[in-house]
Formats: sequence, structure tokens, C-alpha cells
Amino acid sequence: MDIPQKMKAAVLHAFNDVRVEEREVPLPGPDEVLVNVEACGICGTDIKIITHGMPNQPPMGEFIIGHEYAGTIVALGDTVDEFAVGDRVAVEIHKGCGRCRNCIIGDYTACLNYGNHRKGHRANGFTANGGFAEYAVNHVNTLSKLPDHISFDESTIITTAGSSIFAIDMAGGYIVGDSIVVLGPGPIGLMAVQCAKALGAGQVILTGTREERLEVGKQYGADHVINVKNEDGVKKVLELTHGLGADLVLECAGGQNSLQQAIEMVRKGGKISIAAFYKQPITADISMAVRNGVNLYTIRGEGRLNVHRAMSLMDQKKITGKPLITHTFALEKINEALATYVERRDGAMKVVVHPQSS
Ligand SMILES: [Zn+2]
Ligand SMILES: [Zn+2]
Repeated sequence: MDIPQKMKAAVLHAFNDVRVEEREVPLPGPDEVLVNVEACGICGTDIKIITHGMPNQPPMGEFIIGHEYAGTIVALGDTVDEFAVGDRVAVEIHKGCGRCRNCIIGDYTACLNYGNHRKGHRANGFTANGGFAEYAVNHVNTLSKLPDHISFDESTIITTAGSSIFAIDMAGGYIVGDSIVVLGPGPIGLMAVQCAKALGAGQVILTGTREERLEVGKQYGADHVINVKNEDGVKKVLELTHGLGADLVLECAGGQNSLQQAIEMVRKGGKISIAAFYKQPITADISMAVRNGVNLYTIRGEGRLNVHRAMSLMDQKKITGKPLITHTFALEKINEALATYVERRDGAMKVVVHPQSS
């Protein structure tokens, strides 16, 4: 394949100012590959970056955003033999620095040199250029090979699913037969429902406020869904768990009151894993958690190779991203794509941009 010198890319110029422009096609470094990007999903973090920025991001006017993408490898760096030209791959966000304590033990999303390019850290679409472009360079350790039956569009969900499994992993991982509550039917929550089922959960209970998303949760295998607008979520979970509470609550909602609910619906000695960001500082009765011996965990992103585990589950057809993808747009239409996502036009959930179509 001939690689052109110029490409189209969505560049952040200032807050709320994304423009599709011509840029040089980047060259892969020794440990990197060049990916011809076929699909890049829009995520809530993109919106945060566009409206508020990200620490250590590339300069305004140069920053190519986008972090949930997939495509075909078209060129290899000098030392790369893990992949070949023509391989279809999905990309995860975080290449740690590879030298700090956290990176060495697999906690590369909490890299101690986060944002420090000199020390080798990069996070695609956060602190380095990303995937709303025809081409992107990626370190080999951020790539997963895509099985033939998984489409580029569906694979844009894989980092999300990796985050869902990471939330389970950090809370101890072992889940067969457990009662799991997932708070919040956003993409991480909906993938968490499927992952918990795939890992053998006894029952999975999903709570939320939007009926159509709770319906998707049912399709994804939730045994019970609770619309907390109409029902008391805590009371219902206690009922469904014979008064004991859930073994594990995955907090994917980030609501003002959701951590408090998690503390009230988890069993004594149970676990809460937080995979949400809160809009502002929240209060919760932590003494109640302490009294009940409840363990609290947090995750950032998709660490400890959990994207690879998610890919394996998708390959085995135990999880799917298909029902989440509601809209696709060409790269030129990125601002329409972003507005569709933000305003949830026509029930938009995952909006995917196609850099190769015009
Ligand atoms: Zn994301
Ligand atoms: Zn590191």
C-alpha cells in the first residue's frame, strides 16, 4: 500500500474548536507501527478534553484527538516483529513509560511518569496524538490483533470493555456465582454486565434511569434491571439478595448519590469498584462502609492487559459491542458526530467516526 505524505485529521485548536485539516502522516518510531485508522469511537472523555483539556496534552492547534480506534497496520518500525503489515488491530489508550514501578507491575494507567514524553509515556488521544485521523502511530504494546469476525466498528468498544473487566480485576476478579450490581447503564456499565455474566456471575442487577438503556442491559444478559426513578434501588437489591446485599457493586454511574447507594446495597464484607468520574466532590457515609468491612477500589482506564481479556471474550462471542453502536459519520462530519453524541440525538450511545470515508 502506498502511504501518502498528507492525511486528514481532526485537530483541537481551542476549547470547543475541532477542525478537520491536512497534516503530515506520522512516521513510526522503532517500537511503533503506523495504523490506517478505519474507525474511531467518541467517548465522554473526548468531550471533557474538547471542553476542558487534558493535562500534558499536545499543544492546541496540533492535538489530534480520539482514543478508541482500530485499523490496519500499513508500516512497521525497525524493531517490530510482533505484528505484520496488513494485520487488523484495535488500539488501547495507555502505553505506560515502561520504566516506573507501576508500569512494571501492569498498572500502566497509573504510570508514575504520566504525560512525561521524555520518559517514554504516551496515552493515545490524551497526552499524544490519537485516532480521529486517517493514520496514527502506535506503540506495539497498545495493540491487540482483531479476529476476522470482529468489525472495526465493534472493536472501538474494546477499550471500554477492558475498563469494565479492569474494575472487576482490581476488586479481586473471582466472580463465579456472585451477585453483581452494576450502577449506571452507560457503555462501561453495559459492557460490565456482559463481562460479569461471561465470568459466571450468579445474578447481575443493573440500575439506571433511562428505560431504553436498561432494555439494552436486558439484551446483554442482566437478570434484573431497576429503574431508580420508579423504584428504590437499595431496597430492591436487598430483596433480590435475600437481605444480604450484593457481593460486588460496580459503580459506573458517577451520580451525586450513587456511591452512597453502593455502600447501602453491598453485603457486609463485600466490594465496591468505582469506574466512574464524578462531576464534583461527593459525600458518602464511609463510616458505614468501614463498619461493614466493605472494600473500596477504583480504576482508571483499561490497565493490566484487560483489553486483551476483553478481546478474548469478544472473540469467543461472550460479549458484543454491536447494540451500543448507534451512529457512524465520516471524519469531515466530526462536529456533527460530536453533537450527536453530546445531545444523545436519536438515542445515540456510541458514535463512531470513519476516517477513510468522505
Ligand atoms: Zn474513552
Ligand atoms: Zn510508568
